[in-house]
Order: sequence, then C-alpha cells, then structure tokens
Amino acid sequence: MTTFIDSHAHLADPAFDADRDETIERARVTGALAVVAIGESIAAAERAADIAERHPGFVFFTAGVHPHDGADFDPLRDVEAIQRLVGDGAVAIGECGLDYHYDHSPRDLQRRAFASQLALAHELDRPVVVHTRDAEDDTRAMVVEAGRAGVRGVLHCYTGSHALAHAALDVGWFVSFSGIVTFRKWDDDALIRLVPDDRVLVESDAPYLAPVPQRGKRNEPAWVSFTVARVAAARGVDPAAIGLETTRNAIRFFNLPVNSESIT
Ligand SMILES: [Zn+2]
Ligand SMILES: [Zn+2]
Repeated sequence: MTTFIDSHAHLADPAFDADRDETIERARVTGALAVVAIGESIAAAERAADIAERHPGFVFFTAGVHPHDGADFDPLRDVEAIQRLVGDGAVAIGECGLDYHYDHSPRDLQRRAFASQLALAHELDRPVVVHTRDAEDDTRAMVVEAGRAGVRGVLHCYTGSHALAHAALDVGWFVSFSGIVTFRKWDDDALIRLVPDDRVLVESDAPYLAPVPQRGKRNEPAWVSFTVARVAAARGVDPAAIGLETTRNAIRFFNLPVNSESIT
C-alpha cells in the first residue's frame, strides 16, 4: 500500500452527499494520510469546514473563490469571509486563479478576485491553491509577483506549459498532478519530471477527472493511488517513493498537523 495525501478534493460537492463518510473511509484504508477538502466558494468552504471538523486530523479544508465565480467576488464581503474561515482553521486560500478557457467570468474580474486572494494569502501567511487554464501570461505575471513578495502557492491539476511551471518553481511554488496524467492522450511526461522532488504534489480533484482505470466515473480520493503510480513511472522511481515525497511535501506546504515521522 502506498501512502499519499490528496492535496485537492472537492469533498463538499453534492456528488458525495450520499456516501461522504464512506468515501473518506475508503481513502484512509487505501493509504491516504490526509485529504485536503477544497472550498471553491464561501458556501463550499463552510461545508468543507464541517466535514473537516467531523474527521479531525484527517480531513483539512481551504477557503476561496474559484475563477469561474470571479464576477460575483465581492472584495469586502468575501475577503472577510475567507479571513473568518482561516481563523476557523482553513489551511490555505483557494482555489482561486484564472480560467480563460471557459471564461465563465470576465477576465478583468477574474484578475481582481485572484489579486485579492493573493494579497490575503500574503497578509495571513497562508499558502494559496491556484487554478490556471489558458491564462498563461496573466498567471505568470501574478504568480511571479506574489511569489517574490513571499506568497507560497501550488499550481493545482497542472497541465500547462513548461515555461509557466518553471516560473512558479523559480519563486518557490509547488506543482500538483491529477488523474489527467493517467489518460491515454497525456503526452508530457517531461513536465512530470521537471518538478523537483521536494515540490511535487498529487491530487484527485474529485469528483472530477477520475484516473484510468476508473475514468468516466465519479472520482474519489482513494484513486489518487493510480496517479501516484503514473507519476512514479514518469519519474522512473518506485510508487512508494513518490507517495512518501508527495506526502511530506503536502504536510510541509499546508503545514498540516500530521506526524510525518509515522510514515513508512
Ligand atoms: Zn481547479
Ligand atoms: Zn478544484
């Protein structure tokens, strides 16, 4: 069994309403040491906080506003809400970022919401979970500026260019891989290899993006084990080694109160 931490799961999603506790238990028995429940909206973060409270020491939560909802971001109301959720124990700000693929919100409003959350991450000294899609130039500019100011972050579910990955890594950021790397059409193992051992994370992004051989089903944290195996293969190492590295990296990145000495 490979130890891992799912660094990004939408456990508050209604897709898990019928069997959330069983899903969390399956992750645990599959080797998960922790699951980070992503709050992609204030409402989702509040639900994620409740889930974390019911699974202390195993489920942790984040709070932020997704770029899809950038148009509805209210700098006063939402910054205050995220601040309160961080006070309640949120381990990171996000997910936030820029998505010019779907353009569900106007780009200037996405940038405004992202900038607010980067500034808050700086102010509260919390890491930031960043979603970026087809927004290379603006993401690079904002990530590099924040990184130079001391903000720590992760490019989650990353499938973008090597150049953007390098820019983020250069300012000390992390890169997280999802089940996309198990898909047949995935052809960029060099991207998986370019991330240093101490900066790589793995995630489910559940309920989306179930890895092969579960592709097409509702995804769940237990299946991160397939992604760990695929990342290990790309890097030419043992899955247990990647499991261990990514586990230690997640503990360090999110400052999780999980004993990394107990990992074998
Ligand atoms: Zn995302
Ligand atoms: Zn997500």
